[in-house]
Amino acid sequence: MIQKTRETVLEIDLGALAHNYRILRSKIGKDVKMMAVVKAFGYGSDANEIAKKLSELGVDYFAVAYTSEGIALREAGIEKPILVLHPQSVNFESIIENCLEPSVYSEFVLREFIKTAEKLGQKEYPIHLKLNTGLHRLGFDENELDLVFDYLSKTNAVKVKAVFSHLAASEDWKEREFTLQQINKFRKMAFKIIEFLPSRPLLHLCNTSGIFNYPEASFDMVRSGIGLYGFGNDPEIDKDLKPIGTLKTIISQIHEVEKGESIGYNRAFKASGKMKTATLPIGHADGINRQYGNEKAGVFINGNYAPIIGNVCMDMLMIDITGIDCKEGDEVILFGGPQPAPEFAEKGKTISYELITGISQRVKRRIILE
Ligand SMILES: *Cc1c(COP(=O)(O)O)cnc(C)c1O
Repeated sequence: MIQKTRETVLEIDLGALAHNYRILRSKIGKDVKMMAVVKAFGYGSDANEIAKKLSELGVDYFAVAYTSEGIALREAGIEKPILVLHPQSVNFESIIENCLEPSVYSEFVLREFIKTAEKLGQKEYPIHLKLNTGLHRLGFDENELDLVFDYLSKTNAVKVKAVFSHLAASEDWKEREFTLQQINKFRKMAFKIIEFLPSRPLLHLCNTSGIFNYPEASFDMVRSGIGLYGFGNDPEIDKDLKPIGTLKTIISQIHEVEKGESIGYNRAFKASGKMKTATLPIGHADGINRQYGNEKAGVFINGNYAPIIGNVCMDMLMIDITGIDCKEGDEVILFGGPQPAPEFAEKGKTISYELITGISQRVKRRIILE
């Protein structure tokens, strides 16, 4: 199925996705549910294709960041429950119309969502209560729980289907003590809520690194994003996973450059001797940002490393191919294969999450079936 490319593409390997799904499943108990996080176009891949494949594999739940992402999944025919992690009140009617489940993280969201659910005649509409256990991003604090109970006791339009929180540093062993405190706080707050509610909600806390590093905290469900796409924030974990994405392009043109000549905008690179350069049809508008330019990062051609030289342009970048046997039209790999995304990302002083979610929608996605 893998064919040589003739343009810039992000290949998405659904076989690798299935492999990662099975590895993640093997780390959690049989009764623990798996929520696949497919926000931001499936971490820059293709959310619909990822969600379809994971549905086939038996995933229990999906999560997205925003309402529009959940609606897109519904339009693609995804029928599993979908949690919207960060909904805004303007979207509450759409959430209900599309059978999406909101994360309710503040008094404002709780009050407004109840109002909308009542207006639309809902009974026991499922919501996930988000607790702040130390990330201080979204969620109720412990001292707000009585307020939450007050709202809930006055309506039957919503039902707390789940209670969840998010770990701040599950990949960082130096913050182990903090993470254990977060887990304890979650347990304590969740048990208060369980005591109040008529039926037991699902509890979920762990993201990918949480699944690997704190298996004792998997509760009723785990939420995995980056792991499904093939990365575990740790070289040891990465060994067991398979990156699903490979970003490829081709050589558009080759130049022979003489000593002293410059390459690219602002003449940022000057040849120190006779050299050969190649121009690639991918630039910062595609998500290969300027931070990778000026030899910070490089690409692979026929197994050889070729540094990016000069400033990355909007639609192109130039590489040094001196001494590399290659020709116009040859395939070039930016990340995947010989250079996994975390390695490429590190050269630009960032992380795999930012690199892969930043590949713009202009880049064609090619799905590789299992
Ligand atoms: C994005 C996100 C996740 C997924 O995290 P990974 O590290 O990619 O597994 C889980 N939970 C919440 C609340 C998130 O925002």
